[in-house]
Amino acid sequence: MPELPEVEALAGYLRQRAVGRRVDRLEVAAISALKTYDPPPTAATGRTVVDARRHGKFLDVVFDGDLHLVVHLARAGWLHYREAFPSATPLRPGKGPIAVRVRLDDGSGFDLTEAGTQKKLAAYLVTDPTAVPGVAKLGPDPLTADLPTFTERLRSRRGRVKLVLTDQAVLAGVGNAYSDEILHAAKLSPYALTDRLTDDQLAALHAATRQVLGDAVARSLGQRAAELKGEKRSGLKVHARTGLPCPVCGDTVREVSFSDSSLQYCPTCQTGGKPLADRRLSRLVR
Ligand SMILES: [Zn+2]
Repeated sequence: MPELPEVEALAGYLRQRAVGRRVDRLEVAAISALKTYDPPPTAATGRTVVDARRHGKFLDVVFDGDLHLVVHLARAGWLHYREAFPSATPLRPGKGPIAVRVRLDDGSGFDLTEAGTQKKLAAYLVTDPTAVPGVAKLGPDPLTADLPTFTERLRSRRGRVKLVLTDQAVLAGVGNAYSDEILHAAKLSPYALTDRLTDDQLAALHAATRQVLGDAVARSLGQRAAELKGEKRSGLKVHARTGLPCPVCGDTVREVSFSDSSLQYCPTCQTGGKPLADRRLSRLVR
């Protein structure tokens, strides 16, 4: 699932490539992906792309005259920028991977795509991004939240730190992959309870959050558009590295799996050398 760094990179690419271009047509191929009906897709025609922003994991393509295409890419969604489209024929609604296509006046544009059969990608055409329910409830951005804000947000929810970090109302944009990395960098167990974290641990968690996300944004922005692939993350130390050596201490990265996801951690770095018991996993499942 694209998280803050990947969405930031997509917004950065659109700012370079699409800002200043006019929309020829906004086509919706997956009717269920567009969650709004007013304004209609035709409202985008003739508008100029003036900015691309990120709210948590939401991408916000801003058109002149207060129109926003806000997108949540969900688990398997992505944005593909096309220098040209093979055909001028509008997309037909169907079962293909393309959910939404935006054609721009220089012949380029972008497709919002979703792989797999579970269609969760959500697009909203709105005059105000906070009209999108998922955007309205977002907590502060972890790249800019200072330590007092960060501490207040983490302590606002009692629970396993892994779950609290990924709660979008606590902090906006952290998901399963980067929370594994942040907890590893902060040397904290994913099962640590937020109300028992010391001030020092919260300071370490704050620093790790900014460091991990900041580094990932820098790496993502450094990729060329052709390499901006959602699944291709580099520089991860524990996430998706089960069975491989921890690059910090050499211990074997372990995994706890849930019905539809898993977390990875290093016992030596994070849990005093003890593997996490699977029987506790039920408490992590929402
Ligand atoms: Zn380690």
